[in-house]
Amino acid sequence: MNMSSAANSSTKSAAAAAGSVATPLTVKAGPSLPIISVPSGPTLFEAAERVPNETLDDIRADLGECTRCRLHKARTKIVFGVGNPKAELVFVGEGPGHDEDIQGEPFVGRAGKLLTQMIEAMSLRREDVYICNVVKCRPPENRLPDKDEIAVCSPFLLRQLAAIQPKVICCLGACSAQTLLATTQGISRFRGEWFDFRGSKLIATYHPAYLLRNPPAKSEVWKDLQKVMAVLGLQPKKR
Ligand code: URA
Repeated sequence: MNMSSAANSSTKSAAAAAGSVATPLTVKAGPSLPIISVPSGPTLFEAAERVPNETLDDIRADLGECTRCRLHKARTKIVFGVGNPKAELVFVGEGPGHDEDIQGEPFVGRAGKLLTQMIEAMSLRREDVYICNVVKCRPPENRLPDKDEIAVCSPFLLRQLAAIQPKVICCLGACSAQTLLATTQGISRFRGEWFDFRGSKLIATYHPAYLLRNPPAKSEVWKDLQKVMAVLGLQPKKR
């Protein structure tokens, strides 16, 4: 895809596999996004991440009582993910917070309650979708996950996405969007735009925790969710 067709098309090519060939694409009129184009077929890195026909249970078993990075030291529970293993829609957050660490389930605290409201406004239930995070253990004091922690943990996220093969991936916040799109650009540059991610459509929107601090941004997020609903053929919930 050339720069102008990328800018004009509604879905852009993207990939997360480190080591692929970077092809900058233009997002709106802003500076170029260092997004990586995926040649047809899996790259060596993707192939290494993918175990054909593995299930979410297989991936959870492989994760085990993980000690691969320092985040295991302070965690209470691993927060693997929850929901429909055949979901058409997957939400990807950053990492567990305090409540998630205690309960072992993603998005169950204040931000989680807002996410549940967002899901229900789309006329879905939490159990219809799949919800997970980039890192599976709580970063101390809710700090951002470090690069090396993301590098160790994100292959499990990629395997979860490959096992589910959702129609739509909705990244909640910069951490998941930047991880999956392999970019360092700020999320406000590309939120609400469609990308192709390994056969799924990917869209990034603001994190519910950000909406708790900045409620006026809810209208932007609702616009993004309406785009997701259009792709999934959903009507907003009647009040
Ligand atoms: N924030 C996240 O990014 N994930 C959670 O599971 C909870 C809060």
